[in-house]
Amino acid sequence: MEDSTTSIEELGEFGLINHLTKWVKLANDTTLKGIGDDAAVIDIGGNEAMLISTDTLIEGIHFSLMYTPLKHLGYKAVAVNVSDICAMNAITEQITVSLAVSSKFPVEALEELYEGIQAACNQYKIDLVGGDTTSSISGLVLTVTAIGRAKKDAIAYRNGAKEYDLLVVSGDLGGAYMGLQVLEREKEVFKANPAIQPDLDGHDYIIQRQLKPDARQDIVTILKELDVKPTAMIDISDGLASEIIHLCSQSSVGCHIYDEKIPIDAKTSMTALDFNLDPSTCALNGGEDYELLFTIGQSDFDKINTNPNFTIIGHITHEKDGVYYIDKQGSAIELKAQGWRHF
Ligand code: ADP
Ligand code: MG
Repeated sequence: MEDSTTSIEELGEFGLINHLTKWVKLANDTTLKGIGDDAAVIDIGGNEAMLISTDTLIEGIHFSLMYTPLKHLGYKAVAVNVSDICAMNAITEQITVSLAVSSKFPVEALEELYEGIQAACNQYKIDLVGGDTTSSISGLVLTVTAIGRAKKDAIAYRNGAKEYDLLVVSGDLGGAYMGLQVLEREKEVFKANPAIQPDLDGHDYIIQRQLKPDARQDIVTILKELDVKPTAMIDISDGLASEIIHLCSQSSVGCHIYDEKIPIDAKTSMTALDFNLDPSTCALNGGEDYELLFTIGQSDFDKINTNPNFTIIGHITHEKDGVYYIDKQGSAIELKAQGWRHF
């Protein structure tokens, strides 16, 4: 019999969201930005706006309890949402936390989870203001909603990049992905022989990047101090390549990024080489670094170029020129949208 249903894979993540929400027509003037950016933007009167973003972490898909301590998980769930608010050049002030949990978790485990949530609230100066608690048939589902605030004219959208702007990233890339590779390797070793202790020596930095990522709220403050307003911004949750494609397609521009400029920590590179992986590929396609990718006008070059928090990795071109990665040999490789990992 002919199957008349459509699989989710056929649409992909963004195709699915577009398909389900194509009926949406904004009916309220207070909705300054709806679906499609890192956070929604709501007019609250005066010269400020409220920003809202929500993300869900699911056991077995986004994390494995075999190696993710619950405290780290709580911290990460907050950090990834704060990162989305940072990506709008805004500061998070409140969160809500919704929890679906099966009876296999004792109260002590949930206390640990909330220790992590509390640590993140302290770190980013956030108030936990509500949430929801329900049971789940199996596993843990954790949804955090972050609420932020910014001056309307300071908000950086994904669609503001202009030809000749410079492309900038904060921090370094690829570490979280390599941390995951080490954790997965040790998980397999442990499954094969539980008597063998995990060998995580020398991998502290990349494991921390994976298990306890930090949102770059400090970057929002630094940009303000430098008096730099990004023309466009996005956070790097899925890997540099896919975020650059989003930024360029929403801004209707192209870009050139240069392999030799991509910031990669020495520990990330060494581990990648151990795994026979190209460090640049890990930075381009590995996810979960939660750094910020943004564009600035040429006039801000000096302020950013001399600052150790930032690396200029390329520049924006005309849309017709496409999105290109210039490799170590100087060959230009077109970056194409990737599939969707979680389905
Ligand atoms: P991010 O990677 O920043 O978390 P997503 O890829 O999850 O963003 O979502 C892209 C956009 O689609 C966001 O604006 C998000 O709010 C919106 N979105 C995601 N899922 C849904 C949904 N089920 N219904 C409506 N909007 C959604
Ligand atoms: Mg999301």
